[in-house]
Amino acid sequence: MSDLHPKRLLGKVVVVTGAARGQGAAEAEALVREGARVIATDVEPADGCRRLDVTSDQDWTDLAAELKAAYGQVHGLVNNAGITWRARLGDVRPEDLDRVHAVNVTGPLLGIQHLAPLMPPGSSIVNIGSSAALTAHYPVAYTTSKWALRGLSKTAALELGPRGIRVNTVHPGYIDTEMTASAAPAFREANIRETPLGRTGTVDEITPLVVFLLSDDSSFITGAEIPVDGGLTAHGGVKSLSDALMTGGGR
Ligand code: NAD
Repeated sequence: MSDLHPKRLLGKVVVVTGAARGQGAAEAEALVREGARVIATDVEPADGCRRLDVTSDQDWTDLAAELKAAYGQVHGLVNNAGITWRARLGDVRPEDLDRVHAVNVTGPLLGIQHLAPLMPPGSSIVNIGSSAALTAHYPVAYTTSKWALRGLSKTAALELGPRGIRVNTVHPGYIDTEMTASAAPAFREANIRETPLGRTGTVDEITPLVVFLLSDDSSFITGAEIPVDGGLTAHGGVKSLSDALMTGGGR
């Protein structure tokens, strides 16, 4: 980045969860490029990542104590870590639901509870939701967890607003990462068919919004939910109708 482009996160201390790979790794790199002091964390070992299991209250307690001692303050948190489980309604077990919700909902809750006390006014929290949080996406444990995360984001935005802390949610559509690579090819093809831009997204198409939401450029935006999905959720499920009549020549 040239000097003509001022770094937007200079001096900010930002924690990213699930940063060993995929979107989290790309977010951590982009935040560093913008001048942030990034604490990249993951449950899996990876170069440059501090170990943190988002479901562990003790891990968050330890991290908060370390950050308090090292910096005194934390200015940003990206609740990015997430897992999926593709069982359908008839097959999903309560323990699957619990496991997915522990990472995708309890994880962000613990992160907010432990780091918000260290946040000065002007700080920002970004939760990574999903197009599943706006639709009836079939993997029910994942979908219910991401809908719950929307509720958590709204509550946190309300609760932390008076302290000048903003909380926003980014909803990625189909992004090429290891998570989506683990699904059947039909999943990718069907997503492309439902996406007006006619393609999948990349991790580098998520990071600019995350940087913006952590920066002071978004200082009056809180409680917002922003899809980054090529239009997947904007048409409300009617793309196949439009496509069918287009190719069938009907009106
Ligand atoms: P990914 O599977 O490539 O990466 C997820 C990371 O989270 C991994 O490094 C994993 O080790 C880490 N993680 C899992 N459990 C953890 C835990 N308990 N504690 C700490 N870290 C943990 O997935 P991704 O595609 O990069 O997904 C990032 C986020 O984006 C997730 O919240 C996911 O639900 C969401 N999302 C992804 C897509 C997509 O198409 N890839 C779409 C919508 C939303």
